[in-house]
Amino acid sequence: MAQYALPELAYDYAALEPHLSARILELHHDKHHAAYVAGANTVLERLSDARASGDYGSINQLEKNLAFHLSGHILHSILWRNLSPDGGGRPEGELAAAIDEHLGSFDECRAQLTEAAMNVQGSGWGALSWEPMGGRLIVEQVYDHQGNVGQGGPPLLVLDMWEHAYYLQYENRKAEWVAAFWELANWVDVSERFEKARSIDLSLG
Ligand code: MN
Repeated sequence: MAQYALPELAYDYAALEPHLSARILELHHDKHHAAYVAGANTVLERLSDARASGDYGSINQLEKNLAFHLSGHILHSILWRNLSPDGGGRPEGELAAAIDEHLGSFDECRAQLTEAAMNVQGSGWGALSWEPMGGRLIVEQVYDHQGNVGQGGPPLLVLDMWEHAYYLQYENRKAEWVAAFWELANWVDVSERFEKARSIDLSLG
């Protein structure tokens, strides 16, 4: 039984043009994201088999694959909702206040996330995340889909810096893709994620 399914996009493939081409979005969603969904489901089946048989000879590879594919599925699922044809501008309300408190200002937050994303070595992401033990916003630089991140902090806004996310349109001009991302950022969605995330409390008392 498949545990995960590819979510439908809330907009047409061409809806994010000219910032993101329809062809990139179609390939990125229908092929790349779909592969992470399939990978997550496959590795869960193999882990189920391992539990049933007691054969844990492949446990290291299975756990590595679980982290990679499941994180890929989660990040892309967030990414599609982080983007909107009506995006851009600035966050408002309590999210804006939290950004000011924890990251200096929105301009400083955007600069840090831009730098983190632009300077990923190899494939990865930039992310604005909630850290539920300290109760604060942080910017993370993610290697692949799962590396270099703290534990337990849900991402709120994610920026895909894998070449498949931009290369067909922007080639090696990563800065243009990042600028386009900021024009698409859906602050309504990010604010809703922030409201949910900050109800998670991992503080020690
Ligand atoms: Mn991707």
